[in-house]
Order: sequence, then structure tokens, then C-alpha cells
Amino acid sequence: MIREPLIFEISGKGKRAFSLPELDVPSREDILQGLPVRENIEGFPQVSEVEIIRHFTRLSKANYCVDEGFYPLGSCTMKYNPKINEKIAAISEFVLSHPYAPFDLVQGNLGILKTTEELMNEITGMDAFSFLPAAGAQGELVGMMLIRAYLEERGNPRKIVLIPDSAHGTNPSSAHICGYNIQEIESNEKGTIDISSLEQNMTEDVAALMITNPNTLGVFEADIKKISEIVHAKGGFVYMDGANMNALVGICRPGDMDVDVIHLNLHKTFSTPHGGGGPGSGPVGVKRELEPYLPLPTIKKSEDKYILDFDRPKSIGRVRSFFGNFLVVVKAMVYILSLGPRGLKEVSEIAVLNSNYVRKSLEKDYFLKYTTPTLHECVFSDKFQKKHGVQNIDIAKRLIDFGVHPPTMSFPLIVQGALMTEPTETESKRDLDLFIDAMKQISKEAKENPEIVKSAPHSSYVRRLDETSAARSPVLRWVEKK
Ligand SMILES: *Cc1c(COP(=O)(O)O)cnc(C)c1O
Repeated sequence: MIREPLIFEISGKGKRAFSLPELDVPSREDILQGLPVRENIEGFPQVSEVEIIRHFTRLSKANYCVDEGFYPLGSCTMKYNPKINEKIAAISEFVLSHPYAPFDLVQGNLGILKTTEELMNEITGMDAFSFLPAAGAQGELVGMMLIRAYLEERGNPRKIVLIPDSAHGTNPSSAHICGYNIQEIESNEKGTIDISSLEQNMTEDVAALMITNPNTLGVFEADIKKISEIVHAKGGFVYMDGANMNALVGICRPGDMDVDVIHLNLHKTFSTPHGGGGPGSGPVGVKRELEPYLPLPTIKKSEDKYILDFDRPKSIGRVRSFFGNFLVVVKAMVYILSLGPRGLKEVSEIAVLNSNYVRKSLEKDYFLKYTTPTLHECVFSDKFQKKHGVQNIDIAKRLIDFGVHPPTMSFPLIVQGALMTEPTETESKRDLDLFIDAMKQISKEAKENPEIVKSAPHSSYVRRLDETSAARSPVLRWVEKK
């Protein structure tokens, strides 16, 4: 195992990664006089070219990524991202186009945003999209703000947002930041929304229901039409968290299920690498009646030109500078167009098939609290292994020794000791089998040799960390254990 020092520890006085020819014109030190020029950065590392390249190459190898192996993080849709998307997004005309360029000069870019909007309308059955939100969570907040603006204009913003107990944590936070109180809706024994609980809680104080479909257990809310009807009957809105669109694209459309607002995660369903901190994109789609409230600006076609429309008095205003994360939208568009309608449908079909293959292969080894058939992800738990003192975190860490990234842990909250697994469509049968074999082996170890699981990982760059202090007070220097 390499013990990579800090770049400061490699540093040596006078080392350089470049050499410039001698000046052949008189030197003019006076030009910058009076300007706040930094002369010296204390302790700035001085390294040669080969040292800097090797340092960062070694560090990059210590990192796991989706180009290296399987990444079954449930709810996150960590699919392999085709390189054509990156290639096109890296075309210099896109990369260099200036966000302040007059719109006459970026007609192509505006055309891409408009085309992608039309593609998303078609895929989701919504009427309009804004690509400004920079992530799913911001999309949720914007969605809630649209609903609030609509209701406020009619005299009463209402007080409550209903959220199922299986929801992603961002749902209640977004609704709360938007000024709403949260009322939790219990799931029934199938893991879906309990209709009678919804009926009881759906009053004229409720602004919206935030629903994830398929939900975070991977179960399709088959009663969605009925659910929408109950919410609409009391004048509320149906907000759909679209993070799980990977199970639906090309097969069915939230708009047809009477959903009023949705956010998508381009960095999940529509192929942009994520997990390293972005950039992401969480576009928000709405039905016609909420369109006037969309954030500024929207893009409009006027005669033969795309223009930015700021003249929208009902809009909730600016939510993000410029056009959002434009290059992520380029990647999503390339992804959609390169697959085509048939290809997109196949994405969902294979994602669901892969997930069910994993679920059926492991159902004897890992406890499934909900046995309802699932779509693109499934949620195991550590219940069988707990008998031997082995918990979900131990299983997750042991997977690292088998070259697999751990699945999502301890979410959704309604499954104790959850291991939420989403294989996505991009994994081959061979890679799925490697994962299944590793999980079976770990379940066997939990019975026969629990210590090896509880002390994992054994093969990684660092061993098991105290995750709280690792985040709060990281130790960035390699310290040999005495
Ligand atoms: C990822 C996710 C979100 C939040 O999206 P971000 O882009 O991470 O902000 C919301 N809901 C669900 C179900 C998710 O999986």
C-alpha cells in the first residue's frame, strides 16, 4: 500500500515544474507597481513536473470511481457515463462561451437548453422546465416555492406539506426551508403510501404532497392516480421527487399520473458523473398553471431567435446565476439523443431487470423487510447478520475488500440496518455476479468468522474511520500507528 505524503512533504526549495528561456527584452518590474501583487506565498510547495504528476496520479488511484467498478449506491443512480457525453460537453465553443455573452452570440446554447426542455417535457409529460437549479435539493426548494407563490397569489399559502416516512431527507428540509410544517404519512405493509392515512391528513391546510415514485424502497406507488385525486380534491399540489426516474424513463410519465411539479436529477438518471461533489443539475418541471412562477429567466423563441425572458411578473425570481450548470445539460441532451426513445426505454427495463436479479439472488442471504416486487432498487437489511454481531456498516466496509463500493446505508429510515442497492442498467451480468458472490461470501463470514467482517476493510488506503471526526476534524497527514 502506498503511503502518499502531502505535497508539502515532497516540496524542496528551488524545485520547479517548468523552465522559461532567458528574457530577451528589458525587464519591467515597474509595470505592476502600486497593484496588490502577492510576492510570496508562505510554504508554497515547490516540486518538479514528474513529482506533481505522480503525486496526483497516485492519489487518484486511491479513489474508487464508477469507471473502475460497480457502485451500487441506492437512490443515487451511479451509472457508468458514456464518454461521448464528456467529449461533446468539452467542445471548446461550449466550454469557452461566456455567461455574459449577448444572447445573439449564444443562440446555439440557448437552443440546446430549449431542445432539452422539449425532450424533458416529452419524457416526463410535464409542460415546461427550468434548468436553473443546481441539484436535486435545490430543485425541490424551487418546486415548493412555485407552489407557495401560486397559493399565496390566491390568498392563502397554506401551512403543511405531507411527506411519506420513506422519503429522502432533502424533502422535509426543502419544504421546511420554504416555510411549511411537515406532516409524515405512514407507509403500509407493502411499503407504499397508506391511502387512509393520506385521506385523514389531507386537509385544506395542506399545500402539497411530496411523493417519490417509485419510492425509496424501489416500490412503484401503483395508487398514484388515486393519490393525486385525493390531494387535488382539497386544492393541494402533487410534488414528485424524480430522483428515481431511472425506473420510469420511456415507460410511463409522471405528468400522466397528474403530478404537478417534478424535479429530475440530471446527474443521476441522465448521466453525469457525480459523487465527487458535483456539478449537478436539478431541473424543475411543471404543469401549465405553475409555469408563470418559474424562476428567471426562461428561454423563449421569438421569430427566429431565442431570447431570455425576464418580463415575467409572477416569477419567483432568480435562483441561480446565469443558466444553471449548462454543461451538465449538454451531457443530458447528448445522452438522450444518443440513446433515442427505444434506448431510453431499454435503460429502464434493464435497470429493473438488474435490480430484480440482485434481489432474487440475495433474498435468502439478506433480510428483505418488504417483499413487494421492486423496480430499479431494492433494500436489504442486516437483520440476519445482526445475530452474529455484524451490522450493515461492517458489511459495507467488507465489500470494499472485494473491490465493490458499498451500497447506501441506513436509508430509507423505515428499514432498520438498511443496505439499499441500485445496480443501474450499466452493469454486466458478470459484474452483478461478482457483487452477488461477494455479498454471499460476507454473509457466510458473518456466521463463521464475524471478526473479519467487523474489522474490515483490510485492503483499502485507510482502515475504518470514525466517520464523524473524519468529517469534522480530518487528519490529512499520514501517521503511522504505533
Ligand atoms: C439524490 C436524491 C435527492 C437530492 O438530490 P441532490 O442532487 O443530491 O441534491 C432527493 N431525493 C432523492 C430520492 C434522491 O435520491
